[in-house]
Amino acid sequence: LVRVENVNKNFGALHVLRDINLTVSRGEVVVVIGPSGGGKSTLCRAINRLETIDSGTIVFDGQPLPSEGKALARLRSDVGMVFQSFNLFAHKTILENVTLGPVKVRGVPREQAEKRGMELLERVGIASQAGKYPAQLSGGQQQRVAIARALAMDPKMILFDEPTSALDPEMVQEVLDVMIELAREGMTMVVVTHEMGFARRAANRVVFMAEGQIVEENTPDEFFTNARTDRAKDFLSKIL
Ligand code: ATP
Ligand code: MG
Repeated sequence: LVRVENVNKNFGALHVLRDINLTVSRGEVVVVIGPSGGGKSTLCRAINRLETIDSGTIVFDGQPLPSEGKALARLRSDVGMVFQSFNLFAHKTILENVTLGPVKVRGVPREQAEKRGMELLERVGIASQAGKYPAQLSGGQQQRVAIARALAMDPKMILFDEPTSALDPEMVQEVLDVMIELAREGMTMVVVTHEMGFARRAANRVVFMAEGQIVEENTPDEFFTNARTDRAKDFLSKIL
């Protein structure tokens, strides 16, 4: 579904992505881990073109990433994104947060969008909060709304950038459970996370990124028990 080929990205003198090659197939769940500043967020942002690249190519669904216009809007709705800081619209209700995209971008009739929105809120266990505002919900609930909002666009894949890092510990699992469920249903997912339990249960592949490079790529079992590189072993010794 996604092919990243020889991608390079600089921020001024900083070489943030160095010859990145990565393929994500339909239905695959790829977990990206690695030290802070390694380029994980930049890679995610490049995949839905929130960030431009300096060289190389990114192909999504058979087409090079578009740079503007309708095609770019289309890409953004095909590739959902869930951030660390939920990014909900504060002055809209939970249900409005979930229906806004389909109505405004996809042109779905409001009634239909609301019906689907309620189904999605049901699915992430939050239908009873539909009329509330984001500030009235816990962090875990807000993040589940953010996932429902991404799903409302019928994305072909979803990028998760440290979706549980800003949550109180007791709320992490409720969000991971929704993500594990999505993975089981066959959603294509790229997930930046240090949640090893999630990686072991849901990932097909773990990609270890450091200093702008993909240092190692393996199945979760192999990676966590038998990392090949010293860089990865060192990182794992600090987080496990
Ligand atoms: P973290 O685990 O802390 O989220 P990361 O692996 O996601 O780190 P990135 O956010 O991709 O890392 O950042 C990679 C490098 O690029 C960092 O050194 C960061 O400071 C730098 N960087 C990121 N965005 C910008 C920007 N818009 N302008 C300048 N430098 C940036
Ligand atoms: Mg990041």
